[in-house]
Amino acid sequence: MSLSTAAARANRGAHTENRTPEELREIVSHWGAELELAPAEVIIEWAAATFGERFCVTSSMGDSVLAHLAAKVVPGIDVVFLDTGYHFIETIGTRDAVAATLPVNLLSITPKQTVAEQDAQYGKDLYARDPDLCCALRKVQPLAEGLSHYDAWATGLRRAETHNRVIAPVIGWDAKKQKVKVSPIARWSDEQVETYIAENGVLVNPLVYDGYPSIGCAPCTRRVAPGEDPRSGRWAGTNKTECGIHT
Ligand code: SF4
Repeated sequence: MSLSTAAARANRGAHTENRTPEELREIVSHWGAELELAPAEVIIEWAAATFGERFCVTSSMGDSVLAHLAAKVVPGIDVVFLDTGYHFIETIGTRDAVAATLPVNLLSITPKQTVAEQDAQYGKDLYARDPDLCCALRKVQPLAEGLSHYDAWATGLRRAETHNRVIAPVIGWDAKKQKVKVSPIARWSDEQVETYIAENGVLVNPLVYDGYPSIGCAPCTRRVAPGEDPRSGRWAGTNKTECGIHT
């Protein structure tokens, strides 16, 4: 299958009406297998042509590989960043650099409460006592609201990242959000990511080169030693491995 970039651009904005969940699921079942082995750019082209302005890309700003791919295929595409209020300054700097250098529409979404308001209601450092609740308030709920204008969202999820993500489909159905979840680089290895970054001069969060291969909120992310599971620095010392956005 091949879609032209021009067609993808021309179709953006064509789909302004909400499709029903049944219609969206039908799209997933029809296209999921067909796009499983397609290059990332083709997957993004397909999503932009199929969903128009109701398709966005999300980025946690560990790197900007997905934003870079999407900007190349669909200039002006919405890139959604979830600003939890607990990010490292390097992550905010990466977001700002992406907004300044890539042809994307960078949208930062924030939780209902500031960190100070959350502290006042739930007590200081909720992340240390109830990280699931903290993630629900600062990640899962705001992202669900931030994605309410879209029928489909793309993530940088990769099967190589952790065993929990092994089955991440390229085109899947997010039953909780009732949206199409697109993972254009699901099949990419670590080496493929590194090659794409090097060949395209892609912006990378400087913490990646300082012992943080997987970057989340500052209080819940620690350095990992070379050879350790890259995601072992997330919620280290607890059983928690995911924030709930992808489960
Ligand atoms: S990663 Fe930590 S600080 Fe960030 S929302 Fe989850 S529990 Fe809270």
